[in-house]
Amino acid sequence: MENAVLLRSEEPLAHSPFIGSGSEIWNWLQSLKEEVSLDLLREGPLCQSEILGLREGEESTANTGDIEWGHRAQLEARLREITDAQDRLLDGTYGKCVDCGEQISVGRLTADPAAYLCLACQKLVERQHQFCTL
Ligand SMILES: [Zn+2]
Repeated sequence: MENAVLLRSEEPLAHSPFIGSGSEIWNWLQSLKEEVSLDLLREGPLCQSEILGLREGEESTANTGDIEWGHRAQLEARLREITDAQDRLLDGTYGKCVDCGEQISVGRLTADPAAYLCLACQKLVERQHQFCTL
């Protein structure tokens, strides 16, 4: 088999407007997932806040726990994003905005293969967050 055969795909970019095949994106997401999982392990699950909690009593756990938990939650949310992206890859809905169904731009997917919102929806969400987290 020659490489030229691969380049002349029978499907004229019908459902994959981005560079790379599905399995390449899958591997990319997989390696991202491993990175985040490692970060999550390094966080040390709840050990620190448990120690602090024991020292200062129950009331302070809310405060100290928040920072720890906040970072953990971020990593866990990221992990979920990546897993969801892999699910969409299997579904054949990968690359589409989960909110409005529009095609997410290749640039966004190249920057973040786990992107699940188009630019317009992302901006909306960010604006909502600004209002909510006050
Ligand atoms: Zn959208």
